[in-house]
Amino acid sequence: MNISTLAKILGVSINDLRETGTKKSIFGFAGRNTRIPYNSALEITKILRPEKAAKLQNDDKIYLPATLTVGEFAEAISRPAGIIVKTLLLNGVMATLNEKIDYDTASLIAEELRIEVFPENGELFDNTKQDNMQMVKSVEYDTPEDEKVFVTRPPIVTIMGHVDHGKTTLLDTIRKTNVVATEAGAITQHISSYQITYKDQKITFVDTPGHEAFTAMRARGTQIADFIILLVSAVEGAKPQTVEVIERAKLSKTPVIVAINKIDLPESDVERVKQDIAKFGLVPEEWGGDVPFIPISARNNLNIDKLLDTILLHAEVATLKGQVECPGQAVIIESNLDRQMGVIASILVTKDKLEVGNFIRCGEYVGKIRKLEDSNGKSISQALVSEPVVLVGLPEVVEVGEVIIVYPNQKEAQLAASLEVAKRVNKRGNTAGKHNQTDDNQINLVLKADVSGSLEALKESIIKIPQDKVKLVIKQESVGEVSEGDVEFAHTTGSTILAFHTKVSQKGTQMMKNNPVNVVQSDIIYEILQWIEESILKQIKYEVKITVLGKAEVLAVFKSEKASVQVFGGEVKEGKIFSNKNLRVMRGEEEIGILEVQELQRNKSKVSEANISQQFGMSVTGKGKIQVGDIIESIDETVVK
Ligand code: GDP
Repeated sequence: MNISTLAKILGVSINDLRETGTKKSIFGFAGRNTRIPYNSALEITKILRPEKAAKLQNDDKIYLPATLTVGEFAEAISRPAGIIVKTLLLNGVMATLNEKIDYDTASLIAEELRIEVFPENGELFDNTKQDNMQMVKSVEYDTPEDEKVFVTRPPIVTIMGHVDHGKTTLLDTIRKTNVVATEAGAITQHISSYQITYKDQKITFVDTPGHEAFTAMRARGTQIADFIILLVSAVEGAKPQTVEVIERAKLSKTPVIVAINKIDLPESDVERVKQDIAKFGLVPEEWGGDVPFIPISARNNLNIDKLLDTILLHAEVATLKGQVECPGQAVIIESNLDRQMGVIASILVTKDKLEVGNFIRCGEYVGKIRKLEDSNGKSISQALVSEPVVLVGLPEVVEVGEVIIVYPNQKEAQLAASLEVAKRVNKRGNTAGKHNQTDDNQINLVLKADVSGSLEALKESIIKIPQDKVKLVIKQESVGEVSEGDVEFAHTTGSTILAFHTKVSQKGTQMMKNNPVNVVQSDIIYEILQWIEESILKQIKYEVKITVLGKAEVLAVFKSEKASVQVFGGEVKEGKIFSNKNLRVMRGEEEIGILEVQELQRNKSKVSEANISQQFGMSVTGKGKIQVGDIIESIDETVVK
């Protein structure tokens, strides 16, 4: 650890520590970032905090620093250096005695040699959860908390909503009015994430390709969006995907700004939409809640400025910060293969900056940044935090949500990549057994972790998950491998075993053959949390309530030019038939399908409704073949719990 961390842990000033260290010849001059070896730290602890040192000396665990040479490592675990070099080689890492390896590599090798090691400033000096959390995330380049440097960064916004409620149109409108014309031939033209400058301030819009991608990113610990714009059609109101977005936002605690779209349409009903959405817990500001609701028309560019003002206002209140003066990081939003350019990745910079020429690692792959392009399609030499850019230089297409990290040189990037390969091979995602929960509104859990610190970290994260819809019940928790007793207990109580930083013992695996249980095993806390989130979402059941507004009988079916379109004539028997509502086709008691109306006509002209006893013609799309004699119903669909 470095001197400032040690000073903090011991509760003394850096100057006192330096003075004692040099006076007692424990170390020479130490700058803020000078690493204090474990033994020296212990020596100085004996002088400044004897009670702590006594406690530590009774502890015979092997502690390792964040980085150490292969020789030091061999000495620490009392094994011949040759064996270490060989084991490293077998794991794809080439390193000589004087070369440095990081803690993760060392612990992996130690594990192979059946030796348990602990991170030096994790358990040893400081038992706070924060250190444990840092340990479990095992980010190779973690700057100590008190040395991190932050700057204000632009807000990152993602637009989500039910299909057809206008997401693409809104992204287009904002882009067209705020981004200078894209240069011809730019890769960026085809990418829908971009940054705009509005009232001299920047806003980043990230188009996550699908809602799953959003979860995938969170699963990797990257909560990219600061705000979700929930787009709801002023005509249709809340639909199943609308509700899904609300639930996801609640789980991820991402603030929502509701944009009620298509207010240009005469049938729009803003107040109804507000009531609809408020039912799911998003209460409009004007009703005393904290969610802005902005009525807009994405197509007619109406109130888009208000929406952007609202984003800026909320960003200002949230004081968004991005870390700088640390190795650059970015997250993959999309990546695909281009025949000429190679792999093209749409990324968002999450820490510091990325520069052309940087050596990068993304998961198991190492690359060098060949080209960066901004939202205007301009080639740039560097991309700053919160900036969405297109990057060329990755050797393979990678998954959404993977993290890119900048390394000082190719060698270090390669070392980290080979470590990642070993890690991923080691991580057995055992999800065998069936999902046997006892109650629809409850998920039973058995928690297992390697050490008590990890167990606490896991428990704390679980407790923080909102549980108003589905309860998370921790039936049992303990430290160590998943034993046969754990498996038996989980089986009888219908629990899922969350194994964090630990694995299922051999006996446990055998026990599972006859007592199938669901085991979620990972070294990454977010992967476990993602499983929980997904399970909660699966259990929250919403129904679509159908209200019949009118019924009509099909009198004739006509030939249509397009195979996908059906044309028929009918007569209204009850209520009204509307052009902007879906149609349910009934044959006796049987439901044939739900179709979408393309056009409603009376006397050869387009109308929006047909009243009782009136005859009409209609064209529709969707699955379900209409026959003469069928009853078609104009329906309103609303989502209810
Ligand atoms: P997405 O599926 O959410 O991406 O929705 P689109 O952006 O593709 O929009 C679906 C349909 O709604 C398209 O036909 C758009 O032209 C239309 N649309 C989008 N915004 C508006 C609007 O403000 N007013 C009206 N009248 N139509 C809109």
